[in-house]
Amino acid sequence: MKTPPQTHAIDFDSAKLQRLGFGQPSSLPHRPTTVVQLRQQLGLQLQTSLEPQRILGLFFREIQRLVPLDAMHYAHQPSDLRLEFGHRGHHSVSYALSHEGEHLGELIFRRNQRFMEEELGQLESLLATLLYPMRNALLYRAATRSALRDPLTETGNRIAMDQTLQREIDMARRHSNPLSLLMLDIDHFKRVNDTHGHAVGDKVLRAVAASIKGQLRNMDMVFRFGGEEFLVLLSNTGREAAAIVGERLRLAAQTQEYWAGDIRIDLTVSLGCSTLLAGESAESLLRRADSALYVAKREGRNRLAMAG
Ligand code: GH3
Ligand code: MG
Ligand code: MG
Repeated sequence: MKTPPQTHAIDFDSAKLQRLGFGQPSSLPHRPTTVVQLRQQLGLQLQTSLEPQRILGLFFREIQRLVPLDAMHYAHQPSDLRLEFGHRGHHSVSYALSHEGEHLGELIFRRNQRFMEEELGQLESLLATLLYPMRNALLYRAATRSALRDPLTETGNRIAMDQTLQREIDMARRHSNPLSLLMLDIDHFKRVNDTHGHAVGDKVLRAVAASIKGQLRNMDMVFRFGGEEFLVLLSNTGREAAAIVGERLRLAAQTQEYWAGDIRIDLTVSLGCSTLLAGESAESLLRRADSALYVAKREGRNRLAMAG
């Protein structure tokens, strides 16, 4: 008879991680250290997270044991990421991070005192500890984002919408803020497909999505709800203000030019608007916007209707 394989269990509680050097950094930010020691420490610490905010926050705090800073700015355009740590300083030095040809963002360090040559050497040496952690964090971010986006229109998908809607309802309730919802549907879209083909239909869908996003401050609140239906969440927006936004979206979609080769396509949209009632569920809020949209269609399209 075979003996079962021996198993070991290790519970990495915070105290153990701390002893192993993975935990929170020391509470003495300016304790003297060498570049080599700091690199080693960062090498362990930075791999404990996949969040750019956390990785860079740790980096910003820890490198100050060698190079005091007033601010650090990070940007990675392909993933729409911009992060600021600290406050502005007069002098700045910037680095483009890349690894084997892969662009990993730009870092700008700022402070009021000039940077010394020796400090720049130290910064450059420490920057190397960011490469793998940031590459992993950016990949992870791209993967989670693509799971929540509609690839055709570059708006949020249904999963993102469900999550965001519930979160916004909870937040509106907690802070007693108004919350409104716009449901937008393209008028006679089937005709576009039937007349010009599906590829042109897709192009028109993308253009309508772009015109909606172009009118809003927060593009993360636009979702593709169905085939040619979009949903816009307006946080901290009551009924009257939502009506103004809805009207602006209607006008923008109508004014935008849509082309099938050199034939111009006339296009309009209809919208339904609902504003969260006390104790109302997400389903009910959606249902009321949908009913209002139905009224807008019935009354002749190219208009906005408000839920009762
Ligand atoms: P109404 O004004 O009543 O909304 O009329 P409509 O023609 O827009 O409404 P209907 O719901 O009858 O048709 C919607 C059409 O949208 C049908 C479908 O082929 C098209 N559609 C849905 N998703 C896509 C897509 O991803 N790409 C393209 N090209 N067409 C799509
Ligand atoms: Mg339609
Ligand atoms: Mg529809």
